[in-house]
Amino acid sequence: MQPTERLYFTDSDILEFSATVIDVKSGDRGDEVLLDQTAFYPTGGGQPNDTGRISDAEVIDVFESEDGLIFHLVKESGAIKPGQTIEGAIDRLRRLDHLQQHSGQHILSQAFVQACGAETRSFHLGAQTSTIDIELQSPADDHMRAAEEIANRIIFEDRPLRVHLVTEEEAARLPLRKETAVSGLVRVIEVEDFDWSPCGGTHAKRAGQIGLIAIKSFERAKRMTRVEFVCGRRSLLDYRKATDTAVSIAQMFSTERDAAPELVARMIQENKSLKKRQRDLLELAMKAEAAEMLAAANQAGDFKLIRAVFEDRDAEELRLLASKIVNPGPAVALLGSRDAQSARLVFARSQSLDFNMGALMAEACQTLGGRGGGKGEMAQGGGPETGKLDEAIRLAAEKVTQA
Ligand SMILES: [Zn+2]
Repeated sequence: MQPTERLYFTDSDILEFSATVIDVKSGDRGDEVLLDQTAFYPTGGGQPNDTGRISDAEVIDVFESEDGLIFHLVKESGAIKPGQTIEGAIDRLRRLDHLQQHSGQHILSQAFVQACGAETRSFHLGAQTSTIDIELQSPADDHMRAAEEIANRIIFEDRPLRVHLVTEEEAARLPLRKETAVSGLVRVIEVEDFDWSPCGGTHAKRAGQIGLIAIKSFERAKRMTRVEFVCGRRSLLDYRKATDTAVSIAQMFSTERDAAPELVARMIQENKSLKKRQRDLLELAMKAEAAEMLAAANQAGDFKLIRAVFEDRDAEELRLLASKIVNPGPAVALLGSRDAQSARLVFARSQSLDFNMGALMAEACQTLGGRGGGKGEMAQGGGPETGKLDEAIRLAAEKVTQA
């Protein structure tokens, strides 16, 4: 069977066409329509297929067989029969979007060659953004900005893009950016005085149609650099989104968009200073509280035993208080705190004493139905049985005084 005639090969502006139905067969996902010629682009070369209509049937996928036949997958072929003449119509917005991303990729790939000698090894056109993998070992912002500048200069100059069908010998004489994968006639896409690439995709006729190329991000991937970019209308949508994000942050600080980063940076710095100040004050407060507790406590043998239960104090605060109680000592601190969900414990002793606070903590945590541990000098733990917190501390105190 003759390969399907590709109308998009010579003219990507053809969005409506007539064709003769060669065959209709039913497949797993619907009916597959084969035409003598088509303007529908089948998935390939990193570019997704066109969608649209064939007469009254909705085209949901277009794919190509190894022998060059292009099949149009429709939900229901209905009245479409072999021999019949049909009218095909391509979804314009989807075609324009793909054409912008794909043509933009040609230009961006050449821009990377000129900016930093980085060849493109693969291209993926995604639903939101597209990526190319380029051979660049140590990518930096400067590389991205340089390539972006070159690419957009070509667009602003509105360079023409031309399709050439040439023989392999003729192709070999052209400065092709990548090797051709086909034999026989080669389809070469030229961006005037800039780039020559063998390609079977749909392209803009002039670079101006691409609108804008914007690099969103880059990362190292599989010993290459993956560059994420958007072209055309996607650039506009992404610009709006970026502005919305930046403005919503700026509004939280009652400032305008471009002033927000400096203000946020200042606030982060202030927050750091405040946290440090808060730690210093907590240290002073815990020292004073520990002194008061020690002054009020009775001597238990040759050391002081401090036991206390608090509401809603976090583990860091308990640890700090315990350390102020046992330094310099000699003293033992058995501290607990609880909130609605759980109870927590911190046990500590002075260096001069030799109780094993870790072992004591393990037992106390069993009472609380939880877990805990630590070293000989300081241990912490907790459990869900908040009602047994006083009992757990009383049992630990008995162990310490009876030792
Ligand atoms: Zn192409």
